Amino acid sequence: MKILICDTLNSKVLEELQSIGHCIDISSSDSKNQDLVSEINDAEIVVIRSSTQLTKEIIEKGNKIKIIARCGVGVDNIDVEYAKSKNIKVTNSPSANLTSVVELTVALIINAARKINLSDSHLKDGNWDRKEFIGIELSGKQLGIIGFGKAGRLVSDRMKSFGMSVAFYDPYIKDWEGLEKNLELDELLSSSDVISIHVIKTDETENLISKEKLDLLKKSAILINTSRGGVVDEDYLIEMLKSKQLFGAGLDVYSEEPPKNVDNFADINLITTPHIGASTNEAQLKAGLDSVENIKKILAGDSSVEI
Ligand code: NAD
Repeated sequence: MKILICDTLNSKVLEELQSIGHCIDISSSDSKNQDLVSEINDAEIVVIRSSTQLTKEIIEKGNKIKIIARCGVGVDNIDVEYAKSKNIKVTNSPSANLTSVVELTVALIINAARKINLSDSHLKDGNWDRKEFIGIELSGKQLGIIGFGKAGRLVSDRMKSFGMSVAFYDPYIKDWEGLEKNLELDELLSSSDVISIHVIKTDETENLISKEKLDLLKKSAILINTSRGGVVDEDYLIEMLKSKQLFGAGLDVYSEEPPKNVDNFADINLITTPHIGASTNEAQLKAGLDSVENIKKILAGDSSVEI
């Protein structure tokens, strides 16, 4: 069985995959896109993380594919509908990255609240002008979570330990009986001090936080997006930070990756990371091992792990 590995995997995961079949690893190839097109032709299992795009055009070149395994949660880089129409089983590892992305989210919130990136560069440039770095306390403030699923709830749990109260917007959660306030989007945006986005990427969440919605934010607010690019109008967000219409922001994901407009990121309270939410040793190992287990289950006829 030929297993095509398109993105970098932990060595333990590679060993496990080698016990299932013959692995071809194109993850570090300089001509990865061409290799993908040529190697997918007779691959039976294709293993990817977030960097590889399995479009309809690519998938249709794989005449023998039985399984596509995504090590991680988002499957927006796979044409799942088309894969399913070709009877290809698609599987992911939805929980493996959670702790890592949640911890990054907390780091971005704290960084933005205390302008840590700006003050770090300031000091390393030989300066000591402390009045430029007046921050905000999180204790006693409201955290507004957009998308109260697995990641959203874990961020909520962690930020409560900072003394924050929590509200959320999630139209798919009805009759909420927890302590967190279930608010409509506009009310959440206008009443929260920190807003953190944890939705999945769908047609409905594309540009969910549009220019009009961003205008509802308090001038003193912080907005964080570690979910998926394109959910927030990023250009307008930058404009707001430049014109001091917003206190701070943190982004790990962008509508286009890598983002083109990075020159605009300088000298504003914007903490940016290059989509590293899942980039920890622990998350990558767990996502890979979960994927191996899923592949084994599917090969044994268990469809419970299919998307
Ligand atoms: P999840 O499915 O558990 O939660 C998503 C929540 O969003 C659900 O509760 C759902 O009801 C809600 N939702 C759906 N449509 C909505 C809408 N229109 N408005 C408001 N809420 C809506 O997903 P999760 O595991 O918590 O992951 C959340 C996001 O984090 C995903 O987009 C995932 O891709 C992303 N993620 C990013 C990284 C990274 O590297 N930055 C790593 C892991 C996960």
